[in-house]
Amino acid sequence: MGGQSSSIDRFQGVRVVVVGGGFGGIAAAQGLKSEGIPFTLIDMRDAFHHNVASLRASVQPGFAQSTFIPFAETFKDSFVQGRVEQVDVDRQTVILRDGQEIQYTHLILCTGTDGPFPGKFNTEASFQTAIQAYDDMVTQMQAADSVLVIGGGSTGVEMAAEIKTEYPQKKVVLVHSRIALADSELLPSVRQQAKEVLLEKGVELLLGQKVTNLSQLQLNVTRKNTEVTTDKGLTLTTDLIICCTGVRVNSAAYASNLADCLADDGALKVNEHLQVQGFSNIFAVGDCANIAEPKMAYHAGLHAAVAVSNISNSLSGKPLTSYRTGSVTMLLAMGRDDGVGQFNGLRLPRCLVALGKSRDLLLWKSWREMEQKQP
Ligand SMILES: Cc1cc2nc3c(=O)[nH]c(=O)nc-3n(C[C@H](O)[C@H](O)[C@H](O)COP(=O)(O)OP(=O)(O)OC[C@H]3O[C@@H](n4cnc5c(N)ncnc54)[C@H](O)[C@@H]3O)c2cc1C
Repeated sequence: MGGQSSSIDRFQGVRVVVVGGGFGGIAAAQGLKSEGIPFTLIDMRDAFHHNVASLRASVQPGFAQSTFIPFAETFKDSFVQGRVEQVDVDRQTVILRDGQEIQYTHLILCTGTDGPFPGKFNTEASFQTAIQAYDDMVTQMQAADSVLVIGGGSTGVEMAAEIKTEYPQKKVVLVHSRIALADSELLPSVRQQAKEVLLEKGVELLLGQKVTNLSQLQLNVTRKNTEVTTDKGLTLTTDLIICCTGVRVNSAAYASNLADCLADDGALKVNEHLQVQGFSNIFAVGDCANIAEPKMAYHAGLHAAVAVSNISNSLSGKPLTSYRTGSVTMLLAMGRDDGVGQFNGLRLPRCLVALGKSRDLLLWKSWREMEQKQP
């Protein structure tokens, strides 16, 4: 009782607003909750999307329902659904599309990134609608005899592997503008291994070439024998086309008011305490923070812990914590039965990645974090 009243006194008048309920936002909100710091979490959607598992949700029937976790059940009245359109830094207020204004003493911006479906669910809709969209995608997938995946970054590599694992009889082609696959931050040996796994699974690779008629192609819908052309003069036909390129930072919430703090891609420039340049009470976390490291859910969680502890430290007059980027840890699920990756800069055995990540894509971790039971 004494502890509770002292934390109430300490945080009198404090209101932390967290914008965006992705991996960074839910970690920040849970961190604030456990410190007893009053907060409001705002997201334009009604559920957390575990987009790390979104690719499997687009191939495996019934999987999608595990990838959306409703916010309201976890955060109750501390959750507000709405799209933030402005941050008024003078009035310390965020302004939502419906005109609602929410004041903050501290702000954590975690608006993340958007990209093409199915890697991201990029529509403002209820989670039931989102689940239906993934289930519909599974139907499209099942109707196709051949699938073309455009983009051989980590998402494209995982997508091709997921399709070929679930549907070994389908022809799967991956087209990539570069020669090396997956993220450039990965060890060359891990990238090479990703290529080997794809070839073992029977994925056909078209490397070092670009699709030239992308704007005329209908994505995510099965259209038998659609013609696709590349800049190397190749024409191929496919039934279903999935695009895995073109991720961009969601900067719309803050771009006008924090224009001086933006990097070229719209991410927010931060100092080592993850405070947005020029502000002691505004933090950026996750994909929308301009930090020289791969944009990852894993990092978003680490950022959130630093931002929350720095809000807590600043309220109690303690020195602030710094965020340090480490050697890259990244695991790629190559379907549910295989995987490649590295831990702290060291390549991991495939079976270990398959066991640690690929089997269930760490969904359990998010359901546990959200204090809800996984269906
Ligand atoms: C297919 C795929 C697989 C991946 N696999 C991995 C992996 O295995 N491991 C890993 O570590 N990372 C992985 N990543 C990267 C990871 O998903 C991102 O780094 C992570 O989602 C970033 O979290 P975030 O909280 O910064 O942003 P996001 O997850 O993008 O969440 C942002 C949230 O902000 C909300 N939002 C945005 N703008 C507004 C606004 N104006 N108002 C209100 N709400 C707003 C959105 O609705 C969303 O809920 C993968 C990404 C993809 C696409």
